[in-house]
Amino acid sequence: MIPYSRQSIDTQDKKSVLKVLNSNFLTQGPKVEEFEKKINKFSGSKYAVAANSGSSALHIACLALDIKKGDLVWTVPNTFVASANCAINCGAKIDLVDIDKDTFNISIESLEKKLIEAKKRKNIPKVLIPVHLGGQPTQQRKIWRLSKKYGFKILEDASHSIGAKHHGIKVGSCKWSHITVFSFHPVKIITTAEGGVATTNSKSLEKKMRIFRDNGILRSLKNWRYKQIAPGFNYRMSDISAAIGISQLKKIKKFLKRRNEIAKYYKKLLKDLPIKVQKILPENYSSYHLFIIQLDLNHFKFSYNKIFKLLRKKKYYVNLHYMPIHLSPYFKKIGFRKGQYPVSEKYGKTALSIPIYFGLRLNEIKKFIKVLKGTIENKK
Ligand SMILES: *Cc1c(COP(=O)(O)O)cnc(C)c1O
Repeated sequence: MIPYSRQSIDTQDKKSVLKVLNSNFLTQGPKVEEFEKKINKFSGSKYAVAANSGSSALHIACLALDIKKGDLVWTVPNTFVASANCAINCGAKIDLVDIDKDTFNISIESLEKKLIEAKKRKNIPKVLIPVHLGGQPTQQRKIWRLSKKYGFKILEDASHSIGAKHHGIKVGSCKWSHITVFSFHPVKIITTAEGGVATTNSKSLEKKMRIFRDNGILRSLKNWRYKQIAPGFNYRMSDISAAIGISQLKKIKKFLKRRNEIAKYYKKLLKDLPIKVQKILPENYSSYHLFIIQLDLNHFKFSYNKIFKLLRKKKYYVNLHYMPIHLSPYFKKIGFRKGQYPVSEKYGKTALSIPIYFGLRLNEIKKFIKVLKGTIENKK
């Protein structure tokens, strides 16, 4: 089976887990602290708070940004449900901004338009959650300027994009946002099995995220007493996970290089086909968590669903990232409807994430392209 992405685990990763199993700490301990420091060093942020998943990191980030009942939060329709759930679970009202037809990230044009309208109606969002789709950074420098102009906060969902850069600046540095979240789910760039981290340059946001992660508890450095500050959660990362993360982080350059090589290769092989690839802006370096193509279905023998099915039958586990969230039963229940976000909807009917990961071999890529070509109609 060839999946769209997968983890790459070596002997060092395994050894680091055994070391933790033989130590005194299994749950959040010295390895988590070390991992957080290494994340800071890697991404250029001041603070990092590790959690047991990207979703929980997003949740504590929303809580730290003080998202409460009735607050308005914006994100995009073509994302994983966690980008919206984090705000909804704080009681926020969610709204969406359509994506750009070429980069598949939030459209700056649509965002500006929506902000102008929102200003008139006096309902500027409290927080915007841009999503770095497939590893390509969102246009944070522009979004940061808009956040100053209109007065909203930014939480970057960078689950896909550890190691990516925007104008030469690493994602996670929070140069153009308040908090950035990475996920370490096995399909992502590096893994901790389950895990995530939130980075920030704000001491007070860091402190709040730690409290919400640790059951709402603030520990005193002076004595054994602790205080409960808020009804928090147990979102702790284990030292076992952190040890995998530390070991994986040592290999991230190699992982990113290989993913970028594969992307380059795909672009060459797909050039003359009725297939569009995700446009990477010149100011961006993508981590290529996903390689996303968009099919011009007029030139294919089969429907989108049939192509999906055919490829999967041949054991190529391609996927769609993502089904537009506003068309889900839950979003329909809270008032969204078909037709609201046309670019995301078209994307949801034509896009395909094809295999890309460190261990993917050249002959596997060639074979996949051959199979894909077999679904294209030969119109002369
Ligand atoms: C993976 C992912 C998350 C977080 O997922 P976890 O499995 O909880 O780590 C959030 N947003 C997006 C866009 C993701 O792809």
